[in-house]
Amino acid sequence: MSRTGINLSEKLQNLGITKSECCQFIPSEKPNECQCGLTKREHAQPLVNSEQNWTRDTCTRPGGITNAYGGIRFADKNEISKYIRVYYRTEMDKMISLLFGKSYWHMKPPKLLISVTGGAQVAVSELVRDILCKGLVKAATSTDGWITTGGTNAGIMKHVGETVRFTRSKVTLIGIASWTATSRNEDLISCDEDTPLRFAKSQYLEPNHTHFILVDDSKYNDFGGEIQFRAKLESEISKIKKIPIILVVVEGGPNTAATVLESLKKSIPCGYKLNWNDFSKPLNIFFDQYLNIQIKNANKRTCAKSFQSQSFVFDFMNFKELSRI
Ligand SMILES: [Zn+2]
Repeated sequence: MSRTGINLSEKLQNLGITKSECCQFIPSEKPNECQCGLTKREHAQPLVNSEQNWTRDTCTRPGGITNAYGGIRFADKNEISKYIRVYYRTEMDKMISLLFGKSYWHMKPPKLLISVTGGAQVAVSELVRDILCKGLVKAATSTDGWITTGGTNAGIMKHVGETVRFTRSKVTLIGIASWTATSRNEDLISCDEDTPLRFAKSQYLEPNHTHFILVDDSKYNDFGGEIQFRAKLESEISKIKKIPIILVVVEGGPNTAATVLESLKKSIPCGYKLNWNDFSKPLNIFFDQYLNIQIKNANKRTCAKSFQSQSFVFDFMNFKELSRI
């Protein structure tokens, strides 16, 4: 029994959030390995036979109620970070129940949602990085807002997390990361709300995040499985609670571009920062450099147009205004 008096497994059953499982063994180039990255033995039975190429939409299914839910206590930190593993096709009404439902995370709806994305490396100077991160955290704190990131201990995600810690800000910082890319994710397999897991400092997840949503698509040899889910969830939170949302892009590579694209599909405005001196640089540069890796040319013009009309340049220095490009 948990402290709330409700049996946890019953709670999770009621919530109906599952993990993912690959249900088709489609051989990869490696011996005895499926294109999902697991061996045959690691697959749940029964398997469906197929000759096709592996895609997560055709080769995965909900794999039973999630087996990773609870809290993590990172070293040198008193607060417990909550986490859950979720199937990438989890319905958004279930996610909304998880976030705001009394029996689950019971979070207070934000008044602003700042979604931060960027590469694992941030090339901007320390000073600029500090101003940027302090600005973001200040914006969230002063508006009762949330910040969402990719949740990993690298790049802008790490810097935002550390800024929250150094400024002792009480801000909700949610990491939406890939379950399959999370190193040693087997350590997170536990469903016990009352006994948090103890984690050392240098894990894949950034320890100052207050919550982690780990998106499972069964693709164990790839990154970026959380991208579409993240845009969908952010858009849903924004719609249901009728709050403004902005995506802040700080450099990055193809996965950042994919994140921008998914956000644009959900009409989430994007603030973009290439480097400190490049605020006014045409956003097409970004598209030429990255997005053409992700999208076909036919689609590119529409997206570029949409990106420009919906994008903002954020005044991080003064943190006062959003000016339309
Ligand atoms: Zn497989």
